[in-house]
Amino acid sequence: MKKWICKSCGLYKKIIPGHIKSGRKVFFIHNADNMNKTIKKGVVVSRNKDILIILSEGLLCMVKDIDVYPEDAPVYFVYNMFGACECPTK
Ligand SMILES: [Zn+2]
Repeated sequence: MKKWICKSCGLYKKIIPGHIKSGRKVFFIHNADNMNKTIKKGVVVSRNKDILIILSEGLLCMVKDIDVYPEDAPVYFVYNMFGACECPTK
């Protein structure tokens, strides 16, 4: 968990969606019908600009990378509870 915490301010670092690569195990927000958002787990197969192709439960899903986060990352509610790091990235 330590690598997600900023050394300067002690808050959680934001995930950089562009850094999520193929082969990565991720959670993603699956938008079934715009009303029912569910969190699913899968593996990134490939990327096309800001769209990631994710294999989940035998199905391929196309998901915007901002709706994807690595399996080992702190979950979003942690950000909401404690705030996220705003330090400029080096
Ligand atoms: Zn910081």
